[in-house]
This record gives sequence, structure tokens and C-alpha cells, in this order.
Amino acid sequence: MNEFDLIEKYFDWGQGIGDDCALVAVNSHQQLATTVDTLIEGVHFPADTIPQDIAYKSLAVNLSDLAAMGATPLYFSLALTLPSVNEQWLKAFSQSLKALAKQYSIRLIGGDTTKGVLSITINATGTLEKNQALLRSGAQVGDSIFVSNTLGDAALAWQQLQNQQSPSTALLKKFNHPEPQIKLGQFLLGIANSCIDISDGLQQDLSHILTRSKVEAIIDLDALPLSAEVSKHIANTSDWCVALAGGDDYELCFTVPEAHISKLKAVQQELGIILTKIGVITSKNLISQCRLTIKDLDKACKPYQHF
Ligand code: ADP
Ligand code: MG
Repeated sequence: MNEFDLIEKYFDWGQGIGDDCALVAVNSHQQLATTVDTLIEGVHFPADTIPQDIAYKSLAVNLSDLAAMGATPLYFSLALTLPSVNEQWLKAFSQSLKALAKQYSIRLIGGDTTKGVLSITINATGTLEKNQALLRSGAQVGDSIFVSNTLGDAALAWQQLQNQQSPSTALLKKFNHPEPQIKLGQFLLGIANSCIDISDGLQQDLSHILTRSKVEAIIDLDALPLSAEVSKHIANTSDWCVALAGGDDYELCFTVPEAHISKLKAVQQELGIILTKIGVITSKNLISQCRLTIKDLDKACKPYQHF
């Protein structure tokens, strides 16, 4: 049983799970968007990762889920499990966490501290105007599918680290310091019909949009935005899976109706990001599991799943 079958069978109690954040009403015009993510040593980061990078990524991946909903960060709590008390480690960890929290104006309001294998759980919450949130379920036939910046850089860094190679500074930056696309998410409110952050690879995360929107899509490999290093890696190895299934991109994948596409130009300049059209939502599909066609892909990629 995979991670998503497990969630569906035991924890989908019909109370609204399925998006990057859960939405809770505050009053008649505001909602809270809340999300939780755990990072475990040896699973999400190598054992020799410096505390600054662990802290950054722990908060950044949660901010990325807020970004996927278009939410404005508000507060977070921190559950920290440590094998021992190492003050040098704690100082570096807390300083890095504080700097990122300040950058995104999000307050630390509580947490829990326990002893065990190093693991960091953050629950982050943001605000939204009622009924404005970007959801996975809103994609419409005819929408264009976009992704921000480039795909596969972090996965290539991880692959190289596992093969005892030294990734370039640029690849390591994407792996250790993914930039949560908070401003892009906020901009997409009222413009995109659906949105998700790419944490488990484009193929799997776009499939979440398709399943929840009950639609099919086609994407074009040639259109995928790739850095020079990832392009070279694919040219040498035909390993498209780094860009499609490697995970850890923390870019946004979203769908936009024709009428709003022209609005995307200005935000790219304003935020210094690149938005690339990679495919289209082609048709409704109310029953089938197989909703994503990837043009010219001869071998399917195995998506990352915890089980
Ligand atoms: P993300 O990658 O954004 O963290 P996923 O696609 O992995 O989200 O998760 C799918 C949905 O399942 C999300 O809405 C998430 O909140 C929910 N979910 C994951 N694990 C559990 C759980 N143990 N109990 C209830 N809901 C869960
Ligand atoms: Mg997510």
C-alpha cells in the first residue's frame, strides 16, 4: 500500500483533506490555511547536513505549501526531536530559522521538544480571503499548465550526493535552500484555476491536480524548463526522471484559463522568476486513473513515495 492509498483508506474521513493546506473559517470573510511537514535525518536530508540548512528547509517546505494555496504566512509551531543537546548546533539552527521566519514575516508561536532520532516537524498557518484559496480541484478543460523556474535541480544534487559526487553550488542551493513561492501564490489568486507545489516531482504532483479536478492533461517533455546542468545530465543519460519524479523542487505547478495568461508576463519581471507553459488540460475524465500523458516519454518514472 502506498502513501496515498494509506491516507485515503485510514485518514480521509470526508472532512476536507487533499490540498496543500487545510482551510479553516475564521470569520465571515477570512480563512486560515494550515499545513504540517516532517523532515527526518537520513530520509529528507543527509546525516552531515549543516543545522542552518536543516532549519531553512524545514520551514521553507511548509511555506511552500502556504504558497500553493496563495496564503499569507502568519505563524508556525516547531516540534523538535534531538538525539542530544548540542548548543553549537542549536544556535546555528535557531539563527537560520529566525532569519527565514523574519524574511517571510511568520512568527514562531510554540512547539514541542523531545529526544530521539533527529526530526523536525513544523506546522505553518497563513491567512486568505474566504473562497479565494488556490485548490488542486479547480483545473478546467482548456487551461494551460505552467511551472515556475526550473525542475530537477534538487533531485540531481541529491543523486550526486548519494553517488559521492560534489554537486555545483547552484544545484546545492536548490536542494538546501528552495525558495518558497509565496508572492507568486498570492499573485495567482483569481488568476489560476488550480495550483500545487511540486514536492514529490512534477508527474505525481500534477497528477494530484488532475485526479482532484477529474480532468486529463498532456505535457511536452521539450517544454520542461531545465537548468543547463539538468539539460546536460538528461542529454547524457536520458534520465528524464530527475525532472519528472525526483522531487524537492518546491516550485509551483498551476493551471490558467486563456483569458488570464497575458497577466503572467508582468509578474515574471516583478518577481524575477520564469513561468513556463508545459502542457494543457485536454478533457474531462470522471473515472480513469491514468490522467497524464507525457509526450515522447518512452519509460515511465517511478514517483517518490515513502512506502
Ligand atoms: P503535501 O505534499 O503538500 O504535503 P500530499 O500530497 O503529500 O501533500 O498529501 C495529500 C493530502 O493528504 C494533504 O491534504 C495532506 O494534508 C493529507 N495527509 C497526509 N497525511 C495525512 C494523515 N496522516 N492524516 C490526514 N491527512 C493526511
Ligand atoms: Mg504540497
